[in-house]
Amino acid sequence: MLATTRDDRWSKLRRRSPTLPAVEALGREDQSTAREREPSRVETSADPRAVSGVAAVDPRSVPIPVRLNLFLCALVLVLAVALLWAASHATTGWATLFSAVAFSYVMLTDYALLHEATHASLHMDPRWNRFLGRMLGALFPVPFTMILTTHRGHHERNRTDAEMFDLYYARDSCFLKCVQWYGILTGFFWPFVPVGAVLASVFPRALRARMFRERNDTKHLLGDLQGELLRTIRLETAGIALFFVLLFALLDLRAGSVLLCYACFSLNWSTRQYIGHAFTKRDVVHGAWNLAHGRAMSAVLLHGEWDLNHHRHPEVPWIHIPRLACEPESRRGYVRQYWRQWLGPRLTEERSPRATPSLTPAHLQPIRSESKP
Ligand SMILES: [Zn+2]
Repeated sequence: MLATTRDDRWSKLRRRSPTLPAVEALGREDQSTAREREPSRVETSADPRAVSGVAAVDPRSVPIPVRLNLFLCALVLVLAVALLWAASHATTGWATLFSAVAFSYVMLTDYALLHEATHASLHMDPRWNRFLGRMLGALFPVPFTMILTTHRGHHERNRTDAEMFDLYYARDSCFLKCVQWYGILTGFFWPFVPVGAVLASVFPRALRARMFRERNDTKHLLGDLQGELLRTIRLETAGIALFFVLLFALLDLRAGSVLLCYACFSLNWSTRQYIGHAFTKRDVVHGAWNLAHGRAMSAVLLHGEWDLNHHRHPEVPWIHIPRLACEPESRRGYVRQYWRQWLGPRLTEERSPRATPSLTPAHLQPIRSESKP
């Protein structure tokens, strides 16, 4: 009950003001403080905002674009399903391929909206936020609770050893790091998401296997996915399975064409998953880029290329992110940064920063808001 009251209060604040009086000034002041800080000295016990040097943006200045978000959710769901149908019923291989490539771009926006839902920024009403997140997640496909948990972990452990894909220590196997890195770039990251959801739902013991427990990049993740969360993930996975059974039955989809659609999406999504963080400084909050991309792709990604601004202000909805202040030197070309990644992981001696509690205000963190008082 307490969480609901807080959500209502926050929602009203967000609704009240459509202007942005405080955003730019706040951002500038915060970042000058941030530059003076030692990146590796983040402490889990202190106030995360004080440690990172980033103050919260006035919620009245960054309202959620609810109507636009609802329109985009409907558009993405209709387009994605229509393209699955078109790919399945195309009469030529080229038409199937064209539908699959178009599907992969529509699904980038699906993920961007899903990402908004993980930050409780898709809709002001937590119940709608969760419902829309589950619908968008079904198409991905990923249980909403699973991506909500793993994405919160990403914000808390960014650039620590648990999320160090672009770098390796002298003691690491360069070969294995390269396999992992080029696996991400060539599209093999996405399959781990639905496969992980099925394992968590059907064979949760498999996730406790030694190979997962001892790996830096999976042990924290597995620690997060426990108890009540696993039960919710199981229900959501069952819902996703039902969703696809109905899609196949009602639209007479062909498995080969649907797999081609998801193969294109797998490549398109995975290959850009680490672009916002590759070769940035090892800092949980400031270890990201604000990349410069063309207008069309910026719209498809819902400004997802502004990752540094997002990590500094995860509570700010996507539409306001480019208006937050940022240092000119933090911006670089998206395409240039993309190809830089193909030069491979680099040797580092820089120490891992400590994980930082989320910068998202507690009353906006969906898992906490939804938990019982
Ligand atoms: Zn995020």
